[in-house]
Amino acid sequence: MKLIYKLLIPKVVFVVFLLVFVGFYARQALRNALFQNEFYAMQESVQRHAAANLGPSDFADPRSAGAEKHFAAFTEGISDSTTARVTIWDSEGRIIYSDLTSIIGLRSRGRPGLQGALDSAEPSYHVQAKDDEYPRQTDVGEFLDIYIPVTAAGKIAGAVEVHSVIGAVLLPMQRQVRELLYLLIVGTMLLIAVLFAVAQVVIVTPMRKVRGFVTAVESGDFDAKLDIRSKDEMGELSASLNRMAAGLRRLQELKNEFVFLASHELRAPVTVIKGYLALIEEDEIACLSKETRAYLVNIEKAGDRLGRLVDDLLEVARSEAGKLGVSVRPCDLSQVILGIIDEQKVLAEKKRISVAYDRPDSVPKVLADEDRLKEVLANLLSNAVKYSPEDTAIKVYHELRDGTVVTSVRDAGFGIPAKEQGYVFEKFFRSGTRKVRDMPGTGLGLFISKQLVEKMDGKIWFSSKEGGGTTFSFALKKA
Ligand code: ADP
Repeated sequence: MKLIYKLLIPKVVFVVFLLVFVGFYARQALRNALFQNEFYAMQESVQRHAAANLGPSDFADPRSAGAEKHFAAFTEGISDSTTARVTIWDSEGRIIYSDLTSIIGLRSRGRPGLQGALDSAEPSYHVQAKDDEYPRQTDVGEFLDIYIPVTAAGKIAGAVEVHSVIGAVLLPMQRQVRELLYLLIVGTMLLIAVLFAVAQVVIVTPMRKVRGFVTAVESGDFDAKLDIRSKDEMGELSASLNRMAAGLRRLQELKNEFVFLASHELRAPVTVIKGYLALIEEDEIACLSKETRAYLVNIEKAGDRLGRLVDDLLEVARSEAGKLGVSVRPCDLSQVILGIIDEQKVLAEKKRISVAYDRPDSVPKVLADEDRLKEVLANLLSNAVKYSPEDTAIKVYHELRDGTVVTSVRDAGFGIPAKEQGYVFEKFFRSGTRKVRDMPGTGLGLFISKQLVEKMDGKIWFSSKEGGGTTFSFALKKA
């Protein structure tokens, strides 16, 4: 999962939970506030209308015509401002007035709110579920029941119950509540978008920069710089990574210096050894035993190999220090090829390998450094000879392609296994196959050849099949 999602999902879940929680409590608080508001308004209305319409005689004889009129006027006065149903009790807890005439005369003193109103003149309100035992005609949800005591001549004469459907009480606020809900949803989405944008700027963008930087360092670019200046952990990480890259660069320089110096210093003794060997061969060979001569041949071979290795290491060190000097000028490619084929002929003949140069009538001159071009060709041709069985053929040929001259060296040799092909131009790569491992080599030739060809603004590639031969090609610009 992407880092940004890992960081944001818990936050978003938390915010949503918080909103649901806060929303639930806000709804409860709002309901209670509204009920209380309704309660106080009703209390005031009941007391006002009771004072205006009801007297102690109405409670003493509720069935008298005057009382009925007063109760009706009182109820109407209250009902004017509400859809609530009004019921009036006497001090004994008997219903003395209701628009539901069937319940007049019933006693229901046991109701908690009613009891409080009659016994201690305490007004109160209660929320009743719709399945309450209270008689009703509707089935519209919860009810809000408000009980208010009515006093006459300083005594509790009875109580009034105002019974409203809660939906009707909440109706005036419903629009505002819905708007608040929309506001909360939009607000949450905005908050999530802001969190996303902040995480993008603060974490994801710097992380991408770090990834790009690490990839650059991984591929050997120790000059890469990470530019995160924020004064936080990211900024500190950036500074540490920059110091690490500088350290790696220094190490690389030290290693290059060491390889350069070591190979340079090794060159002199190798030359001396080879020189003395040549002298011994020239002057003393006649009086040496057969055995000693065989030893000398082996020493000479080892000396040659050591010499090549030292030369290759020097080239690698130069290449890595950016000091692989080439100076390109128009070059006669076919002459160079003929010269190299001539040099490699002896080796090829030893394995009865034929080297054919398919030389066109005219080969355009190419832009190259002649000595470096010779190095590349010598490496490709010697590899072709080295990694081919006896009695096979090697062919060198050209093609003209997009303003370049492509030179190919095709052999019918061991080929390179598909799984190794990605590493062929890497430093010190040598195939793991037995036939190749047995051949002398350093694994540096193709690395150097690639550096040289690219320095000459060219390209080098190959195609190969295990057991089916290999063709190495390089393209150089026409002069
Ligand atoms: P070296 O020949 O000294 O080992 P190179 O860099 O020239 O080093 O070649 C690297 C490796 O590529 C060789 O060890 C060999 O495995 C493989 N290779 C190069 N040229 C050929 C070829 N013509 N045929 C088969 N394998 C080759």
